[in-house]
Amino acid sequence: MSHVFTLPERPAAAIAGSAETFPVGRIICIGRNYEAHAREMGTDPAREAPFFFTKWADALAPNGATIPYPSETANYHFEAELVIAIGKEGAKVNEADALGLVFGYAVGLDMTRRDVQLEAREKGRPWDTGKNFAFSAPMAAIRPVAEGHIASGPIQLRVNGDLKQDGDIRDLIWDCAETIAYVSRFERLLPGDLIFTGTPAGVGAVVPGDVIEVTIAGLEPLTVTIGEREADFA
Ligand code: MN
Repeated sequence: MSHVFTLPERPAAAIAGSAETFPVGRIICIGRNYEAHAREMGTDPAREAPFFFTKWADALAPNGATIPYPSETANYHFEAELVIAIGKEGAKVNEADALGLVFGYAVGLDMTRRDVQLEAREKGRPWDTGKNFAFSAPMAAIRPVAEGHIASGPIQLRVNGDLKQDGDIRDLIWDCAETIAYVSRFERLLPGDLIFTGTPAGVGAVVPGDVIEVTIAGLEPLTVTIGEREADFA
């Protein structure tokens, strides 16, 4: 059987200390997973169950990339996030078993058309155009889990050297095990899935020429540069 055309190869992420790469199947993102960020978005973290949204694997961008300032927004935001890379299949996993699915961890960015996302939120519509678009998921190399799980430590984001986000992984409302267990209630997790675990407080806008640096203790730092503004539909 032959196809009528050939799809591009799956996007793949770098693995720290390895020549091999991690093929990416799906990108799952958790919203409002730090109390201070939930408050800055005008919501009450105490009354919210976790929720998730998705990005295409094609949204991935490598460390060091220059990513375009996307069209159709005037408020392009950074969100620094710990990313869980899934290496084993699992559905309806218990919290006690959840970390057994982890291949490794990485530093990521959930780049967001904030104006578009908030308009969708206010109208009760899906967030896709605000969250899921090309280059919206930059990620540094994955550190294999053999070097340990990530449960605490600073997560920081700088724009042109200025500190904008300064959180700690221990302040995740739903930690990595709880997040994996929760997502797996709704969808069987598969090797190649990435889970972006949410961002601490301090999100903000960038403009073309800005350089974003994200660090999480023990992981490869992530640097991206904001490129030229893409033309809007005319
Ligand atoms: Mn996010």
